[in-house]
Amino acid sequence: PLVLGIETSCDETGVGIVRGTTLLADAVASSVDEHARFGGVVPEVASRAHLEAMVPTIERACGTAGIAPYDVDAVAVTSGPGLAGALLVGVAAAKALAIGLGKPLYGVNHLAAHVAVDQLEHGPLPEPVLALLVSGGHSSLLRVEDVTTGVDPLGATIDDAAGEAFDKVARLLGLPFPGGPHIDRAAREGDRVAIDLPRGLTSRRDLERHRFDFSFSGLKTAVARWVEARERSGEPVPVGDVAASFQEAVCDVLVRKALDAAADQGIEDLLIGGGVAANSRLRAMAEERGSKVGVRVRVPRPGLCTDNGAMVAALGAEMVARGRTPSALDLPADSSLPVTSVLV
Ligand code: ATP
Ligand code: MG
Ligand code: FE
Repeated sequence: PLVLGIETSCDETGVGIVRGTTLLADAVASSVDEHARFGGVVPEVASRAHLEAMVPTIERACGTAGIAPYDVDAVAVTSGPGLAGALLVGVAAAKALAIGLGKPLYGVNHLAAHVAVDQLEHGPLPEPVLALLVSGGHSSLLRVEDVTTGVDPLGATIDDAAGEAFDKVARLLGLPFPGGPHIDRAAREGDRVAIDLPRGLTSRRDLERHRFDFSFSGLKTAVARWVEARERSGEPVPVGDVAASFQEAVCDVLVRKALDAAADQGIEDLLIGGGVAANSRLRAMAEERGSKVGVRVRVPRPGLCTDNGAMVAALGAEMVARGRTPSALDLPADSSLPVTSVLV
């Protein structure tokens, strides 16, 4: 099926077009520069930017794919979770397209779309697959039986998301927002074992209750303390070493728990998705440790890890291929849509 997907859950206006598992176009307009000076995404600014970018981004995607809107078999859109006002713009645009074209509408879950996108690069998902989803708003381990119906959470962060920790530590180091890519780059010049930092929820006692959960706020505080002590002593802060040691601590816990969950569930395929999956150290560490225990690791290329429309189109195409019932035309935008609700 030829499917057009729309994504507006945060600050990226994404429109993707796929035919089955083949990517035809992935147009993204980001308002990230407008948020940078506030150190985080400002919801009202994001909503207005989506309004302005929506039609041009749809036109750009159709142009790249070489199709006209009436060629599509279905329209898919992120129904949640995300920023309410931002989601509303995408959902309204998708409804208008679906009604105008007389095509079915699929309102899908943003987190499941972060998983489904890998099909565009590595082919059909193994079933089941263990998904480590790490982004600015989420960090979870999911057992995915069928990405259109069966997503089962095994664990999640109990405080900050992994991407949020990257962004906060970057801010502390005076690096621009969003901080993930800057930490990734700075870490290449640093020493991963320079600073001994905590691995959240890995003590024997914590593992009893939180075996597959994450915690990153203690790590962020430990980095802040270390940097403050350094500044008080008048010595320069070694940005590369802090970035590398912090990144190592995050990746170590993510990979350790993901492989433990894979073993526990008897699953041999690990998929990493979401913005933090673009991290070079996370990708390398997962590959290395996975190969030692016989777990195959799949990670989409960085441009498909951060928010985009292709991931929504990919999940929409899977809905069509599996004969799922389309959404009603009064489809809501649900800012706190649970990960278990894949199709709304
Ligand atoms: P969600 O899917 O939870 O709604 P989101 O909308 O914030 O998340 P994503 O694009 O999925 O958006 O993820 C953005 C996050 O990914 C940011 O926190 C950013 O710092 C982080 N990130 C991007 N690239 C890297 C990288 N190379 N290393 C680490 N983190 C990264
Ligand atoms: Mg973003
Ligand atoms: Fe996302």
